[in-house]
Amino acid sequence: MIKENVEKILNELPDGVGLVAAAKTRTPEEILECVEAGVGIIGENYVQEAERAYSVIGDRARWHMIGHLQSNKAKKAVKIFDMIETVDSVKLAKAIDRACEKIGRTMPILIEINSGEEPQKAGVMPEDAVGLVKEISGLNNIEILGLMTMGPFAGDPEEARPYFQKTRALFEEIKGLELPRVEMKYLSMGMSNSYKVAIEEGANLVRIGTKIFGERHYD
Ligand SMILES: *Cc1c(COP(=O)(O)O)cnc(C)c1O
Repeated sequence: MIKENVEKILNELPDGVGLVAAAKTRTPEEILECVEAGVGIIGENYVQEAERAYSVIGDRARWHMIGHLQSNKAKKAVKIFDMIETVDSVKLAKAIDRACEKIGRTMPILIEINSGEEPQKAGVMPEDAVGLVKEISGLNNIEILGLMTMGPFAGDPEEARPYFQKTRALFEEIKGLELPRVEMKYLSMGMSNSYKVAIEEGANLVRIGTKIFGERHYD
């Protein structure tokens, strides 16, 4: 099942669009199956789940943090992840920077945009994004490589389109600023129900869970 789902999605994705398998609540065995079917990047929402899966799969995949990261988990996160897609504050960026410095590595990051401007949700408000990028781009052990957004949950993917467009516009705006040490390369948008719309709006990383693994189960 997982294998067929992965193959189908990989066949359909346009060139240049990367697939991130959103693995929350899945077992390491399920995740391994999807890696063996050809998924190169695993997205994890929780450091603890990532540690468990990483201990089984290791460097057979690349690991992206796609959930909200608490600053006090940065030390553990920088040991596992190849990219942190969800940086939305100076505090978190500094925690990642310090943790990286201690172990002598650089962390590629994306800035998470709260494109729906929903106060209870993670992500920096669109109007504060440029300021955040400018403020953290001086940190030596992180590398800003793009933007990520969730958008408000909507049943109809067309309802997500304006939020993807807004995030794309910000992506272009920041790119145009040509800030030192900022390279706008990745735009991570779209989930199982919305990834096709996201790709039309410029996404080159899509995060897909349900369509790979089936409905979520909780353990
Ligand atoms: C769960 C999750 C996804 C994937 O959601 P599906 O609807 O299962 O495809 C994508 N991005 C993030 C941040 C998630 O937490």
